Amino acid sequence: MKRSDRRKTIAIIAHDGKKADLLDFVQKNRKRLSKYHLIATRTTGTMVREKLGLEVRCYRSGPYGGDAEIAARVVNGDVHAVIFITDPLDAHPHDPDIHTLLRVCNVHNVPLATNIATANMIVGKL
Ligand code: PGA
Repeated sequence: MKRSDRRKTIAIIAHDGKKADLLDFVQKNRKRLSKYHLIATRTTGTMVREKLGLEVRCYRSGPYGGDAEIAARVVNGDVHAVIFITDPLDAHPHDPDIHTLLRVCNVHNVPLATNIATANMIVGKL
């Protein structure tokens, strides 16, 4: 993000079993979301960029540390909301990183959506 970019930043992430739901959400809220600086883990961000044509800054893939990279940005205070559509019916090798991201959002009082219903409420209010 350029220093002159005054847009708020939203992080978008989805586990594999929820990526279709997140894409659908982003598509439905495309106009609203295009006003934000979007950051994402690699697979999620690449999908949003390629399928929907939105500009997204991608970090590493979640299992390779991307959730931890985004957690660090939350700690630094430069993420205004996190939309992390988690899949409660699947196991994840990077569970500690997932919990770190969820935890730091709560530590720093950053709006956090882990399902689409809450994500819809967040984009309407930011
Ligand atoms: P991905 O990572 O977007 O690279 O799939 C998401 C995650 O599993 O945390």
